[in-house]
Amino acid sequence: MNFQKVRLGVGLYFVATPIGAARDITLRALDVLASADVIAAEDTRSLRRLMEIHGVPLEGRRIQAYHDHSGAGARGKILDALQQGKSVAYASEAGMPLIADPGYDLGRQAAEEGHMVTCAPGPSAALMALTLAGLPTDAFFFAGFLPNASGARRTRIEALREVPGTLVFYESPKRVAACLFDLSQVLGDDRQAAMCRELTKKFEEVRRGTLADLAADLRGQTVKGEIVLLVDRGHSETVNESDIEEALKHALETHSVRDAADLVSQMYKLPRRPIYQLALKLGKG
Ligand code: SAM
Repeated sequence: MNFQKVRLGVGLYFVATPIGAARDITLRALDVLASADVIAAEDTRSLRRLMEIHGVPLEGRRIQAYHDHSGAGARGKILDALQQGKSVAYASEAGMPLIADPGYDLGRQAAEEGHMVTCAPGPSAALMALTLAGLPTDAFFFAGFLPNASGARRTRIEALREVPGTLVFYESPKRVAACLFDLSQVLGDDRQAAMCRELTKKFEEVRRGTLADLAADLRGQTVKGEIVLLVDRGHSETVNESDIEEALKHALETHSVRDAADLVSQMYKLPRRPIYQLALKLGKG
């Protein structure tokens, strides 16, 4: 037996479930599922199956269905249970609750009503993909699913252009080729990227390359399974001295030395002082 019955305090316990391999469940998640007074889930069938695999008995408890969009009624039932002093476990179908999954409204309202809210944490596709992609992880931006329609998708990608970190997207296999094409068109062909597929499962795969490489790879190909896409941040182009000199000469035709230096340093996002010195020299010439 991998779990222990424990005495849980009153409160809401978010429970992370595996993203593929059933044995990725944590022992603490099993303890919480075995011990909570009330169990709720995004997908009651998959949670029942997971509990069966790990031999966690329901002992007369019914798994309640809950999505944020199931509305105030379903949420009310869970909040009533908390009010009555019960412990409630809530699991989403896969991975961490709230990460492109339900639970936000429930957690927020439970906390607002003064209940303890905690989590038995576990796998999440976004974090596993970051670990494998070979892209910087010092800063990242989880952007969830992009819009389905290409126009809206490109607008959203454009809004993410300047994010100073690795971009992380969830994508469906049906749209991944179109999505990579739009990413390369909007962000440029050369950004490094990765496609992580079927993580923790039999056909786990990581493809790394530029956006252009990956888009070309997938053009006309059918891909199956669950996918995370990652794209490196933009690296500002290197500016050479002659570009700066040219820009300053141009600016000096119509501006004072001071204003020309301001303009050019803002244009290239460079410190003003050396640009001002150069403008001074050019202005005298
Ligand atoms: N809550 C989950 C988490 O923490 O990762 C995400 C749920 S979201 C509804 C489902 C999406 O996550 C999939 O469409 C896919 O983009 C990604 N995903 C989930 N499991 C995955 C896996 N094993 N491999 C790759 N991507 C996965």
